Amino acid sequence: MPAAGCDLCVYAAVHGWWGPDHKGTHCGDCHASWSGTGKAHCTACHQTFASNPTADLHWHRERHVDPGLTRNAKGTPKLERGDDGVWHSTKRRPNYWERAA
Ligand SMILES: [Zn+2]
Ligand SMILES: [Zn+2]
Ligand SMILES: [Zn+2]
Repeated sequence: MPAAGCDLCVYAAVHGWWGPDHKGTHCGDCHASWSGTGKAHCTACHQTFASNPTADLHWHRERHVDPGLTRNAKGTPKLERGDDGVWHSTKRRPNYWERAA
């Protein structure tokens, strides 16, 4: 549903795409934008995750969990939100997942 006030959605409703200035993907429900292949956007809480497996961490036994409330067996958070607003796994990740500076 195009929302008045969101330039991207207004543009997309008319032109069928996000336009030349927009890189990546845009959610027509929460109006968040994100870029980068492999990222996952949750249609329940409208948070963006670094990858599909990362997004899976905030689903517990088929139930949706607030990403900020996820805990592993030791009681530590499974997800943390980066400066870019994207949720990352708190597990140590291999170097090839590190973001370029
Ligand atoms: Zn929008
Ligand atoms: Zn969610
Ligand atoms: Zn959304």
